[in-house]
Amino acid sequence: MISSEIQKKLYEFVKPSYPKIKIEIVDTNENVRNLYFTDEKFELLYPEQRYHYLVYLIPPDFYEQNLRNTIWFELAPNENPEDLEYLDQEVIDNIKDDIVRILKDKVNFVSLLDKEFSSQNVKCFGDFRHSKKILNDLEFSNQDQFDIFHVLMDEGGYCDCEILYNVFKESEYSKKYWEHRHE
Ligand SMILES: [Zn+2]
Repeated sequence: MISSEIQKKLYEFVKPSYPKIKIEIVDTNENVRNLYFTDEKFELLYPEQRYHYLVYLIPPDFYEQNLRNTIWFELAPNENPEDLEYLDQEVIDNIKDDIVRILKDKVNFVSLLDKEFSSQNVKCFGDFRHSKKILNDLEFSNQDQFDIFHVLMDEGGYCDCEILYNVFKESEYSKKYWEHRHE
């Protein structure tokens, strides 16, 4: 498929969820294409989260046939590709155990988030706004939070509620969630 056809299909897949998204495709050489996705909804999200939500909207067949040799850039307006920050898998693996232990046992993060969701005081917006508030109150720096959230995403926690039901399954909120799913 040529770039303009791919671009048209991507708009079809993604626009229902991101009506204002801009998609650009740049062919860098014979085998690699750069895909640029720009949307204001990305502003509160880490690039890793943005990718996770976008790729979910694209049918696996289409991905397999047309997007295997592509490099993705998920941008908020006013961001440049060199602004995007990721964390290496090796680093994530090295810090994971310590971070999970600290969040659970040392600083009460899990029980605070659990309490908010279990009491239905808050709802999830598909981002980390509630977790960030708690971590800010606990005085974790932005750099610490970057590491923490990359560990949590690696464990399947791409938003506040997923942190509880995918990462900290012993939380009350998570137990209720999985019970309902089994009924
Ligand atoms: Zn959620």
